[in-house]
Amino acid sequence: MGTSTVCYRCNRRYQDDNQVRCECGEPLWFDDDLAGFDLPSPREMNGLWRYAEALPDLRPEGIAAAAGRTPLLRSPRLDQVAGCRVYVKDEGENPTGSYKDRGSAVAVSHALQQDIDAVGTVSYGNMAMSTAAHAASLGIDCVVLVPTDTPTSRLELIAQYDPTIIQVEGEYGKLYDDVLDLNRELPISFLLSDAPARIRGYKTALFEIYEALAPDTPDAIALPASSGGFASGIWRGILEFQNAGVIDTPPRLYLVQTAASDPITRAYIADQDEVSALEAEAVGETIAHSIGNPNPPSGTRALTAVRQTGGAVCSVTDADIRQAQRQFARRGGLCVEPASATPLAGVRQLTSRGEIDEDETVVLLPTGTGFKEMGTGGVSIQTNTLSRSALSSQLASLLSS
Ligand SMILES: *Cc1c(COP(=O)(O)O)cnc(C)c1O
Repeated sequence: MGTSTVCYRCNRRYQDDNQVRCECGEPLWFDDDLAGFDLPSPREMNGLWRYAEALPDLRPEGIAAAAGRTPLLRSPRLDQVAGCRVYVKDEGENPTGSYKDRGSAVAVSHALQQDIDAVGTVSYGNMAMSTAAHAASLGIDCVVLVPTDTPTSRLELIAQYDPTIIQVEGEYGKLYDDVLDLNRELPISFLLSDAPARIRGYKTALFEIYEALAPDTPDAIALPASSGGFASGIWRGILEFQNAGVIDTPPRLYLVQTAASDPITRAYIADQDEVSALEAEAVGETIAHSIGNPNPPSGTRALTAVRQTGGAVCSVTDADIRQAQRQFARRGGLCVEPASATPLAGVRQLTSRGEIDEDETVVLLPTGTGFKEMGTGGVSIQTNTLSRSALSSQLASLLSS
């Protein structure tokens, strides 16, 4: 790393980091010298595909090569909120802004090798966006089934990738079984939350956590759960790493649901072995629309993961979620969607109940970015107005007040 800045035009050098422009008038840059540097091998750069031994044998193309390899951040200012030592695995940094890309990367690439005409999905959120984007980048048709009342702002996020969007009349929540039939009848591969090829992609998030933390290991991992797909993938990763001798004691899995639709929490609290669908009367409205599934296809599997790892399931209210979302931004510098704020709200609840100790290391998994929702009124905005001539006299006092 160089210590001086230099002008690209006249080659004058400066030692003052704060000087932005050269005497000649042009902007300066640092004079870093990479002599002796080697390019990393291409495999190093292929996102989640570097766990080739654990994935189908194919060459990822398009954005499939960009899924995964998200950062694991130590975020000390969030410790006080969480009540323990936290790391953040920021899944919002995937190509379409959610962990769904790990599943789409593997499942859409895999589908491309089968004898089918299109991939499809049932979603009007992150799953739809991710599947459509991966299909677009690989040049395979995509069918997205959405409810008739889907807001335009959400349709826009999906439609940019040009899938065939079908608004389905009738009971949208009951489509899951119909679509499994369609899979058999039509040359379309519907890739739902629990498609085995997706789970294969999701497990790589667990591999990355252990790789980034080594030689340390997490005591627990906290993530939102709705259909239970991601939780299944994380558990599958734990089992494969245990089998490979990488993990000795599994991390406790903590799943967090929205109190407005929390069938897995209810089954956990009632000490049941299976998760049953909630009746319509038991389902409320929530700002965490990515995690509202009242009938989770992988719910029982997710519950089993919790029991086998010694974790727990808990629910948080919209008020808890909004507060955690603000803390992620104000203390972590992270913009997460409401569903993705639930692990922080949940861990806070679990530490105050004594389920997690303050000296334990917990990985929070914010599953998706909040950037898609900006402009929808979730953030309160405060500004100050100063005249240009008052900036130098008043800015310092404004900051110290
Ligand atoms: C899909 C999704 C979830 C829920 O994951 P499941 O696999 O359905 O449990 C959580 N957060 C975000 C941002 C999502 O897109």
